Amino acid sequence: MTNRPDVLIVGAGFAGMYALYRYRNLGFNVTVIEAGSDVGGTWFWNRYPGARCDVPSLEYSYGFSKSLEQDWDWPEVFSAQPDILKYANHVADRFDLRQHIQFNTRLVALEYMETDNRWRATIEHTAESKEQSEPAAQIEAQFCVMATGCLSVPNKPVLPGADSFTGTVLHTGLWPKEPVDLTGKRVGIIGTGSSGVQAIPELAKQAEHLTVFQRTPVYTVPANRKAMRAAVQQEFRDNYDDIREMQQKNAGGVSNFRPVRSLRRPRSDNAVRQEPITAIPSTSLPASSLSSVAQAPNAILSLTPEERLEMVTERGLNTLLSFRDVYNNTEANEAANETFRQALGNMIDDPEVSARLSPTTYGLGCKRQVLDRDYYDTFNRDDVTLVDVIDTPIETITRDGIRTNEKDYDLDVLIYATGFDAMTGALLKANIQGRDGKRLADKWQDGPVAYLGLQMHGFPNLFTITGPGSPSVLCNMLVAIEQHVNWIGDCIKYLGDNNLESIEATPEAEVDWVAHVNEVAEGTMYTTPSCNSWYLGSNVPGKARIFMPYVGGYPRYREQCEQVVANGYEGFCLG
Ligand code: NAP
Repeated sequence: MTNRPDVLIVGAGFAGMYALYRYRNLGFNVTVIEAGSDVGGTWFWNRYPGARCDVPSLEYSYGFSKSLEQDWDWPEVFSAQPDILKYANHVADRFDLRQHIQFNTRLVALEYMETDNRWRATIEHTAESKEQSEPAAQIEAQFCVMATGCLSVPNKPVLPGADSFTGTVLHTGLWPKEPVDLTGKRVGIIGTGSSGVQAIPELAKQAEHLTVFQRTPVYTVPANRKAMRAAVQQEFRDNYDDIREMQQKNAGGVSNFRPVRSLRRPRSDNAVRQEPITAIPSTSLPASSLSSVAQAPNAILSLTPEERLEMVTERGLNTLLSFRDVYNNTEANEAANETFRQALGNMIDDPEVSARLSPTTYGLGCKRQVLDRDYYDTFNRDDVTLVDVIDTPIETITRDGIRTNEKDYDLDVLIYATGFDAMTGALLKANIQGRDGKRLADKWQDGPVAYLGLQMHGFPNLFTITGPGSPSVLCNMLVAIEQHVNWIGDCIKYLGDNNLESIEATPEAEVDWVAHVNEVAEGTMYTTPSCNSWYLGSNVPGKARIFMPYVGGYPRYREQCEQVVANGYEGFCLG
């Protein structure tokens, strides 16, 4: 049986849900396939203890529905995973989206059929889908929109002996729906990125003993942990039109709106940003433009080392993120890194543990900023052990736990918090074949090549939402998603209105765009030689080292997309 919608959307996370809503409203017949048993994407799969968002919820929310903005109550300033998933479910119900979504349905291959200008999706139904009556084995659509997410394919390192472990194995990015009881268990966790840092304090509270296997220490700063105040939420609601406009003008798609009416004290005009701190950087200027920034009053280099430490001790580690020069000037960056390490020394009881937790091989701003709740305090507990796997490497996983070159750690539960094959993982896993049987995997062997992170030459009518080369993960994802969904919807409508059948990026346009993406990333902390991050693909063995998101800022990117349309879809071939 073959289903033939106008538009096939792959993924029912925030991108797929809004794309469905929007394209259905434009009059298209839309089918969504989703591997999970329900909506939510990232927030469906990442249910590990401590999971929460690193962007304030009043900003990390859809802007397309005024009534939704007015109705939805967020319980905390930075919401936890269950509350974000609740929101996703509410959106699905409110806009009656589920009837168009085939859950428990995984895309296994996607092939372009040139003769009838359609994409043929071969799909597989998971065990849970057996209840559906006669699900289609194939879907053929003129347009295919990949809403597969930037961080959706878990990265699980291949460690020797991994299959021999007889205990429970979990991955933070594929956490089970059923609650996991860790009471009385000896738990081991590999990985200290955002997921590990969020999970570790919660796991320590539950487990009998927690052993943390750390390869690279992180710079993490305390997250805002405030409950939502009704007055603050109301002030946002009263100003949402302006807030959405401010998001459009901000490099990271965050308005940074201050609800002055509801706050007791006005913001003090000093060097320290008060709150909230988000994981999205406020600036991404290259080092070459730094001389003037270094003179700015909020430059860390204008303080003595003693003043820096005193400020951080008094006001917290996140003070360091308020200095603009930290992101752009290597000397300032090292000053911040050193202050961070010193402050850590004062926070951790055991100097050996403190030294192990201190990052030394890269600087602040190289990776996505990690936010935590009680991370460092957790290492002062007697029932938590930190193992540095650089000093004492993992030799093998055994039947009973992990063996390093120093000793055996017996475990009941082993958790991988080892991240994702980011940005390209889900697209490459989909086995996409374009014109003349050309595989996307071959085209992207040396790194992703796409025009505006939206489309690829050789793959007509196939679109990627927040694809590589777009601001995506360097932007408030909801803002980036809405912009892409709208652009693609308008494009598809334009084709229909003008009796056109297809759109495809030209090879020149995509090559030029990739060159521009690389050019703007050059000279930032993200691409310093000492930096290894998933932005660069360096967390996955064998993946090409290339900076994947667009760091030139969301407004500049959006204007570029608008200009392309104004110029008659410049850089695309329409037919
Ligand atoms: P990640 O940042 O890539 O961290 C993975 C961790 O696993 C790193 O500590 C890494 O060490 C370690 N690791 C990987 N392979 C290893 C191996 N073979 N042996 C030992 N250690 C290994 O992944 P993540 O923590 O899942 O976070 C990814 C992104 O997801 C974040 O940057 C963020 O964008 C998003 N996220 C956001 C939130 C939030 O909203 N607060 C929460 C979770 C995730 P190395 O550094 O040495 O590679």
